[in-house]
Amino acid sequence: MKFDPIAAATEPAQKPKPGPLPPAERVGFAIAGLGRLAGEEVIPAFGECRRSRIAALVSGSPEKAAAVGKSLGLGTSALYDYESFDRIADDPSVQVVYVITPNALHKDLVIRAARAKKHVLCEKPMATSSADAREMIEACDRAGVKLMIAYRSQYQKHHRRLLGDMRSGRFGTIKMIEAVNVQAQGDVRQWRLRKALAGGGSLPDIGLYCLNEARFLTGEEPVEISAQIYSTPGDPRFAEVEESVAFTLRFPSGVLASCSTSYGAHKSQHLLVNGERGWARMDKAFAYRGQALHIGSVENGAEVVETVGVEVTNQFADEIDHMAQCVLEGRVPRTPGQEGLQDHVLMEAIYEAARTGQTVKLGPGGALDATRGPPLGEPG
Ligand code: NAD
Repeated sequence: MKFDPIAAATEPAQKPKPGPLPPAERVGFAIAGLGRLAGEEVIPAFGECRRSRIAALVSGSPEKAAAVGKSLGLGTSALYDYESFDRIADDPSVQVVYVITPNALHKDLVIRAARAKKHVLCEKPMATSSADAREMIEACDRAGVKLMIAYRSQYQKHHRRLLGDMRSGRFGTIKMIEAVNVQAQGDVRQWRLRKALAGGGSLPDIGLYCLNEARFLTGEEPVEISAQIYSTPGDPRFAEVEESVAFTLRFPSGVLASCSTSYGAHKSQHLLVNGERGWARMDKAFAYRGQALHIGSVENGAEVVETVGVEVTNQFADEIDHMAQCVLEGRVPRTPGQEGLQDHVLMEAIYEAARTGQTVKLGPGGALDATRGPPLGEPG
């Protein structure tokens, strides 16, 4: 439906909102792994998608699959477990498998989905090593299917607005980026604290957002990395994985990004960008919702601080619909497997820098946004 604008020209621009596709034309997703993220964020987000629908579920728990399937109106033929999963190859209603299991289990499901000729959306971190990430990319390339890594911040509108402002030169040359993503873990039995299932501690789980953000905003790859790790001695949560990581990235343009992550500190998620002519601060930068973008610069000789009005949408729905758009239009996802692989290569360099106490030097990064698909354009 299209409506003529009724507000005055002095009001914020009203952008036409495209309506949803008819259900039969939407891309069908199988959700693999019915845990917290799937249940609390991803499945509800489909209600706000325009191009995507849930066509199947994959779970190790028949009771959970039946209950969730019933709530979504799915028949029993749309419910798979990890043994019967390969039969999804014969299910034409499924075009994409969205993998939302513990990190170490991503690889197997991504490779099996690719063999079944299904496109794949895979949660972050993509894998537990760069070697596994490479195998996942090769499997998807061999099968001719798309692989997208679920870097939701790159689809979130405050982040897209900030990227646009930075790339347009609003802040002048960027000098510093500071990114913090910390939260206190409780239950010592959870898979996030088991190295074999998680791959690491705070770094691959939440520090990854800081790393990926610095790369996404600059469009560059770091040429030097230094890092320190500390875990409280005797704390059972950190028997296998690290507690806190502080790392610094030096980018070819001279930007220094200072990133901090921890599993032992009260939740805080913020981002600061400092340019020659201005700064931007994003509160709740890596949260599921509640982002706020503030910008400071000098106007007419005085410091002016503004809060930027950005349309609030569901970042999971925006991300899922991007995958569907790529399937419908034959596009390369903005965050393909290469984007996830590069973060694994860099996380391995961060661990090495912390272990040796030496700065790790990396090769020249290449072209801007070298690991990404085409830009998304203006946040709509
Ligand atoms: P969770 O523990 O709540 O759910 C994991 C699911 O996998 C559960 O349903 C569990 O039963 C199932 N599973 C299958 N095999 C398992 C095994 N061997 N051990 C343990 N569980 C097994 O975890 P979650 O928070 O939903 O995280 C799932 C994935 O999503 C992870 O890769 C995580 O990094 C990612 N994640 C992403 C975001 C984001 O904002 N994008 C947020 C949270 C989690």
